[in-house]
Amino acid sequence: MRPEVLIVGQGLAGTLLGWELARAGIPFHVADAGPAVAASRAAAGIINPITGRRLVKAWRIETLSPAARTVFAEIGAVAGRPFWRDFRVRRLFADAGERAAWAAKSARGELAPYAGAADAEGFWIEGAARVDLPALLAWMRAEWLAQGLLTAGPADPTEARRRYGLVIDCTGLAAARSGPFAGLPWSFDQGQMLEVAVAGLDEDVILNCRHWALPVGPGAAWCGATHAPGETGTEPTAGARAQLEIAAQALLARPFTVTGQRCGVRVTTPDRRPVAGRHPEDPGLGLCNGLGAKGALFAPWLARQWREHLVSGAAFDPAADPRRFV
Ligand SMILES: Cc1cc2nc3c(=O)[nH]c(=O)nc-3n(C[C@H](O)[C@H](O)[C@H](O)COP(=O)(O)OP(=O)(O)OC[C@H]3O[C@@H](n4cnc5c(N)ncnc54)[C@H](O)[C@@H]3O)c2cc1C
Repeated sequence: MRPEVLIVGQGLAGTLLGWELARAGIPFHVADAGPAVAASRAAAGIINPITGRRLVKAWRIETLSPAARTVFAEIGAVAGRPFWRDFRVRRLFADAGERAAWAAKSARGELAPYAGAADAEGFWIEGAARVDLPALLAWMRAEWLAQGLLTAGPADPTEARRRYGLVIDCTGLAAARSGPFAGLPWSFDQGQMLEVAVAGLDEDVILNCRHWALPVGPGAAWCGATHAPGETGTEPTAGARAQLEIAAQALLARPFTVTGQRCGVRVTTPDRRPVAGRHPEDPGLGLCNGLGAKGALFAPWLARQWREHLVSGAAFDPAADPRRFV
């Protein structure tokens, strides 16, 4: 018998959503066009509690990060391999302004408990992590294919609505560009990163100074990321590669070889909060999107809201509900 719920898209949003529905015993099916243009394929999966030039503590980090850790650890336990890894971030001051921001915010205790020891060049950020998104998504896809829960190929959420009681759109950029949720005030920020071969990095430390360098195993790291607001192309560009090579030279301070380049589009909203909820005109259409630059932090939270909504009728958090834009 066909399940009532169809999830369209198996990036980070659709993966976490399906995981939560499975845990709640809610039957579902997934349709996914493939990872080629998924933002999740370009994402480093870093959860960094303090970000940006103004050194801002990530929104709701104190609750969202432990919740994300629990879910990714649960998935890792079932998969028999860890997807979550704890990191420290070595945040180097890019200029005097950043040093002053750190001094002022530290003095006021605003960065606690995440800002650690400091010196003249920078400070340590504790409580960071990395979720191995390519491995997680590939494992989940293989599992769902084996269980007959996933159809590889595109689906039209509006058309699928005729056959399913609830269609939850997790197609990221595609949903923001066309379809029933395209009218929300989306904004786009294309990002690119480099895969590099490099020896001698501390594998427990993410280097960060405007850009980041993330160790992803012995002799390998990812360096990112560019920001191109408004840009929606998904093909890597020579300009971004040149910019990232300069950033990698400064951050890594040792020889490296570029082995790959990835590109994706961060989909976000004016308030930089993600979106989970039902369509105001057709409640049989739902959405899980707008993860922006914080997919690893936000996706577990959105998926849990859908689970609680379907199990007990719980309302969506107003900070995530699409009705906040009406
Ligand atoms: C360079 C870069 C670095 C980043 N770094 C980080 C980071 O360090 N930490 C972090 O938390 N976030 C990071 N992000 C953000 C993160 O990538 C996104 O927030 C997240 O991946 C979005 O996931 P999603 O599931 O919403 O969309 P996507 O990953 O884009 O997934 C959408 C899925 O839907 C499928 N699809 C599309 N249309 C259809 C259709 N019609 N039918 C069926 N399937 C369809 C696609 O094939 C895809 O699999 C980064 C992003 C970029 C670009």
